Amino acid sequence: MRLRLPARHSLVCQQAVELVTDYLEGALSRADHRRFEKHLARCTGCTEYLAQIRATISITGRVTPDDLTEQMRGEFIDLYRRWQHEGAGEDQG
Ligand SMILES: [Zn+2]
Repeated sequence: MRLRLPARHSLVCQQAVELVTDYLEGALSRADHRRFEKHLARCTGCTEYLAQIRATISITGRVTPDDLTEQMRGEFIDLYRRWQHEGAGEDQG
């Protein structure tokens, strides 16, 4: 299954997604950590995603990149589609 990411923003988000596990494990460099939190502050999608990952960790004890299933990524991208549809232009700045 091929996922279509409509906006340039999604590329940024995909990077953020890949940083989530490192972030939660405290494995990010300071710069990356700050960049990630900055992104989170502006991005509802990634905030929601992080919340999902945290919930997963609270159940399983930890999360590895392998735990980020295609289903989770699919749900994540689905969230974006909805936000883009509902809230376009809301968050400019
Ligand atoms: Zn994001």
